[in-house]
Amino acid sequence: MAELGPEEGRALCEALEGPAPTSVRLHPQRPCRWSGAEAVPWSPAGRYLTERPSFTLDPAFHAGAYYVQEASSQFLAHVLAGEEVAGKRILDLCAAPGGKTTLYASLAGSDGLVVANEVNRQRAAVLADNVRKWGLGNVAVTVNEPAQIAVLEGWFDIVAVDAPCSGEGMFRKTPEARDEWSENNVKICAVRQAEILREAWKTLRPGGLLIYSTCTFNRLENEGSLEGLLAEAGEEIVESTAFDCPPEWGVGFFAAVARKVPDGGSRVRVPKSRRTIFTPAGRRECAELARWIAEPGRMRFAAVADVYYAYYESQYEAVKMLAESLRVIASGVAMGQIFKERLKPDHALAMFCGLNRRAVPVAELSEEEALRFLRKQEAAAAAFAEGMNLVTHGGAALGFAKRIQNRVNNMYPNSLRIFNL
Ligand code: SAM
Repeated sequence: MAELGPEEGRALCEALEGPAPTSVRLHPQRPCRWSGAEAVPWSPAGRYLTERPSFTLDPAFHAGAYYVQEASSQFLAHVLAGEEVAGKRILDLCAAPGGKTTLYASLAGSDGLVVANEVNRQRAAVLADNVRKWGLGNVAVTVNEPAQIAVLEGWFDIVAVDAPCSGEGMFRKTPEARDEWSENNVKICAVRQAEILREAWKTLRPGGLLIYSTCTFNRLENEGSLEGLLAEAGEEIVESTAFDCPPEWGVGFFAAVARKVPDGGSRVRVPKSRRTIFTPAGRRECAELARWIAEPGRMRFAAVADVYYAYYESQYEAVKMLAESLRVIASGVAMGQIFKERLKPDHALAMFCGLNRRAVPVAELSEEEALRFLRKQEAAAAAFAEGMNLVTHGGAALGFAKRIQNRVNNMYPNSLRIFNL
């Protein structure tokens, strides 16, 4: 696959006629009706669907039971298969909309931390929505240029560059991508990739792993970009591997890894804090916040302005440092605001896998009622207890709603509301 030039790439796309099969990647902790479906050979959590359902009309999609992701893009699960990822610090430098970020978050677990960065603000907002829906509480979303992230010298165990590219691997899924392709664009992409790789390399700790991937076939953007890195940092690279994937798999994806020498003398340096963002929660606030968390002993609470957040203990100091040095737009679990010693919960808390389900009554809705909830249409009060409710469908959390006598205040975020028929 790595040997293909653009023309061969096109020829391969044409050979692979018909639309790409629909596939999803399952959430590591949430049940999903597709867990028994045909597995993607290179991705343990990947499943092929026999048809493409309307994901918008599937409450399980909004509950984060799965992420809709091309089987090709799940190839990184294969690349990381032999690697110890749990508990690691991972940088996903080009992260939106979050397909790979949610994979890394699943693999990193609650002692790990994923820093998901995206330069484009609009795309970063979508990334933050997807991270919140995935609900693992171990991701910080940043909006910085790669050169700004590079102030975290030697700080990450794994650095992933899923680079902006000319997208030849997308020809099959989105035929318009063929029209946008040009030789000049390939060259522009290659220059940008070299710049991104240079900054990414600085952030990698000695012994750490760099993963470079694109969804394109040409040599210039794949091996070419890596050769640029080898030329600049070659003496710091202990091994580098390009992953072969047989053309018959139809994987429109290129991936390669490079490991930094463990004792190459590269330094580990993070910026000195120049401002204070986190205020540790007080005793009373902690008592109220802890009530909402299944394992409160594993988490630390802090306020940023008037919103309280929960962080896994093992990553608290790291996220605090990030918030003080980069533009962090989301991190940990946004828990909400406290009024008169009572938490008004944030949507992120409903989606958090570590929510204490006994904190508030659960209102289990039928599929039809769940879709009404997701559309923010009026709901019959009878399904809800007085006060705050966790709204679920099939046991999966969708959000919060507060009943005050006969009125139900739907707290599902307006920005996520579904609008179709
Ligand atoms: N990793 C994502 C996923 O799995 O969902 C897809 C990432 S996409 C291939 C590349 C991303 O790089 C885009 O979101 C794009 O906005 C971002 N990007 C564009 N120019 C960039 C730059 N100069 N530095 C870093 N990222 C850039």
